Amino acid sequence: MRASLFLLVVALSSSAFAQQPPRAVDDEDLSIQNFLQALETSISKTDRSQWTDLLSANADRDSALDFFSAMVPESITRVVVKERDRSALEGTLPGEGFRLVVEVFIETGERGRIATWRLDIRRPRGDDLGAQPWRIVSEDRIASIEGLHRLALQPAKQYIAKNLVIRAIDFELRLPTGQVFVGETPDGVTAIVLMGDGTMVFQPMPKEEKGQLKLFAGTESLETPFTSAFVRINPSEFDQRVSSAMLEEVTPDPRDFRRALTVFEEGVPKSFNLDLSDLSRDVWSLLPQSGDFVAEVKTRRFDDLTYARSMGEAEDVTLFQRARKRNIAAYASEQKLASRGRFFNEDDQLDYDVLDYDVDTAFYPERDWIEGRTKLKIRVKSPVLGVLTLRFADTVNVSSVSSDEFGRLLFLRVRNQNSILVNLPSAVPRDFTMTLIVAYAGRLQSQNNLDESIALEQNRTAQPDDIQVVPPEQKWLFSNRSNWYPQNQVSDYASARLRITVPSEYAVVASGIAEPGSPMVAPPATLENSSRVIPRVTYAFTAPQPVRYLGFVVSRMLRVDAATVALDIVPVKPAAPDMTGTLTLQQQVNRLNAVAAVPPVGARNTVGLSIAANRRQESRARDAVGIGADILRFYASLTGDIPYDTLTIAMVEDNVPGGHAPGYFAMINNPPPVTQINWRNDPAAFQGFPEFFMAHELAHQWFGQAVGWKNYHEQWLSEGVAQYFAALYARERRGESLFRDILRQFRKWSLEDSDQGPVYLGYRLGHIKGDTRVFRAVIYNKGAAVLHMLRRVIGDQAFFAGLKTFYAENRFSKAGSDDLRRAMEAASGRDLSRFFERWIYDNGIPRVRYATTVEGQELVVRLEQVGDVYDLPLTFGVTYTDGKTAEFVVVSTEATMEARFPLTGTVRAVEANPDGAAIAILEKK
Ligand SMILES: [Zn+2]
Repeated sequence: MRASLFLLVVALSSSAFAQQPPRAVDDEDLSIQNFLQALETSISKTDRSQWTDLLSANADRDSALDFFSAMVPESITRVVVKERDRSALEGTLPGEGFRLVVEVFIETGERGRIATWRLDIRRPRGDDLGAQPWRIVSEDRIASIEGLHRLALQPAKQYIAKNLVIRAIDFELRLPTGQVFVGETPDGVTAIVLMGDGTMVFQPMPKEEKGQLKLFAGTESLETPFTSAFVRINPSEFDQRVSSAMLEEVTPDPRDFRRALTVFEEGVPKSFNLDLSDLSRDVWSLLPQSGDFVAEVKTRRFDDLTYARSMGEAEDVTLFQRARKRNIAAYASEQKLASRGRFFNEDDQLDYDVLDYDVDTAFYPERDWIEGRTKLKIRVKSPVLGVLTLRFADTVNVSSVSSDEFGRLLFLRVRNQNSILVNLPSAVPRDFTMTLIVAYAGRLQSQNNLDESIALEQNRTAQPDDIQVVPPEQKWLFSNRSNWYPQNQVSDYASARLRITVPSEYAVVASGIAEPGSPMVAPPATLENSSRVIPRVTYAFTAPQPVRYLGFVVSRMLRVDAATVALDIVPVKPAAPDMTGTLTLQQQVNRLNAVAAVPPVGARNTVGLSIAANRRQESRARDAVGIGADILRFYASLTGDIPYDTLTIAMVEDNVPGGHAPGYFAMINNPPPVTQINWRNDPAAFQGFPEFFMAHELAHQWFGQAVGWKNYHEQWLSEGVAQYFAALYARERRGESLFRDILRQFRKWSLEDSDQGPVYLGYRLGHIKGDTRVFRAVIYNKGAAVLHMLRRVIGDQAFFAGLKTFYAENRFSKAGSDDLRRAMEAASGRDLSRFFERWIYDNGIPRVRYATTVEGQELVVRLEQVGDVYDLPLTFGVTYTDGKTAEFVVVSTEATMEARFPLTGTVRAVEANPDGAAIAILEKK
């Protein structure tokens, strides 16, 4: 179970059991509490006769005794029984019988176990009830967690280190001399405390991880002093990890022990730890799986660093800094690579697949409050599944989890992890389909990031006092970052139905097609502590085509316009492509569509486009209909498809430009009427083309939504492609000159920030230094520039055919760079492995020395690549003395190359890279 492993190893905090909401105590409660008290006593004394006294006359006594023997061990030191759920027992009159779900926590010395029991109890009719009226009719175990340990540091065992070395993958703790203490279980040592002048060594193998380490520590291989360290291992591995020659047992020194105890008590709760809430105040730990390893190291220079090896993770080696929540390293060990291959899909680790979401929620903007119910239809993916993990915002209180198949289910809230663990009454096999219904209410804040990450730094110029700045119209966005509905652990393609109820002054745009009759009048609400009646409306949407995640935006909006946009995605009659350069890209693409081997993907040939807007954005919104339709037609022709039946553009206001685009809608930020925000110096900002954001956001319907990315490394397939599509649209609408301006910006940012890591590093670009501009510079702009270079390497025909294939093959699933490479190789017949190695998985920049000469009627270009050889297309622009110009493209693929081009006049000047398309450092020889 990937999720829980993550929790246990990486979690900053741990799980806590859900609390029932407080209930008024009545006689029935009192009598049931008495019953549970008697139950607790029978368990604590391992008293079978007292247990039998609790059984109903009709109960199966043999099986009840077997149950007791199986569940209740000898030599119990402490028992806690807590009621978790109570419902009426079927076939009983009101108040006569109940089905209880109870949690039983049993301690035997330093070991603990939790079991969830179902107890059906009845009040016998007509009996002399006495003090204890309830009797058990039947009992069952629903779930259990075994193997909890209350770890303690051994005060009686102290060692002196003798050149002690503890190793894990690419990691060492060296303690030439110092104090060592241990924490043991009956199976051996699981916790080790090291104190003294030690050295921590971390030498990540992958090149890009060395690069990240250098950004963090100034060195590609970290060797740094530490004062203390806390290590957790599986007890069976102690002897192999720590040779006995490295430890010499000495007489314990109480002062040393007290210092070690501080390190120990700080270290234990950080990993493999459960917080049992009302069952126990103590810190209970699980044992690391064999091969798992965690070290909390107090270094002198870098504060506390945590190294972890987690066998269950796709990237099993990590180094992080808890205090700043910075992932410094995360990669697959060679052992992991051997088992999973170079690339991985986050979906492969999911326990289940969500087929459909049915979300019904009410939202109260003034209080940031939601109340709702979500029904998930799921299919089991793992071989067997007993506990499943849902992702859901911590701030929202879950009141129940149930299922059509199993009735009420037990769930645990995991603190600070936005997670709920749901226990199934019995393990279910692969392909089992079931429903989960989650009911909830609580605070939920609007997410403030916009595009997947366009949240531009506000570069505020000084505001003169006499300028009245108009605040933007309020809006609330709930989407991929909000965890606003119970969902799978990672984004998961599913169909959906959404019903969102808001006060009637607001409107909702959401990921789906507005249902006929939506919005409809909903029952008014009165809020707690208020007599005000709020008139409400319900907006209903369906998403028949799978969406990666669901989102909605609430604001005071009006519906401005709607249109049905005819698309041109059916192949026209075959015709020879005209590559003379006189055609616009759209015309070229239309010709290419005619000859491309890939047929159009979807059957739709129209898309419904509607525009909603804040009142002050109404005129802009009217323009948006035409532009939006134009963009949709263009992208449909590039991809041969429109993934979703409708698209709604919400024109809202924000001081920060950008947008957000789940399936079926795009939210575009517009400045309020008067603003003082300057956002020129950002990788995502393009002067002279205000439609750029809309063009970028609409491209996400195809790339980002219809085609997702299979793990964080592949996010450029969404942002880089969307950025390139926006650039292609800019060329289509405004011409080559603007396109080149954009290419030059791509180049500027690529050159400036490529040293921060490869495109393939995903969100980790800029993460260590907390600079999100690096992320946009590399993922958005370099990603787009690389696509343009790929197009120039393999030619327009192969590129656009490959793009269509890539799209068609990965529609409504998650793709990787390797999928794109395969599609482009198939379309071009070329081996593109070096292209992708250099441009995507590595972060170098080619250095090219060039010379141009005119020999007779030919331009001779000589190129020399210094260092690693790249596939690099490079344009040379020639200006003749009569003012005419020509351009020639050399695709450099060797360390040295010569190319010749026929000239048509006398050359006045030659310029290298006039279009800015080549990401390279050029030197004229
Ligand atoms: Zn984007």
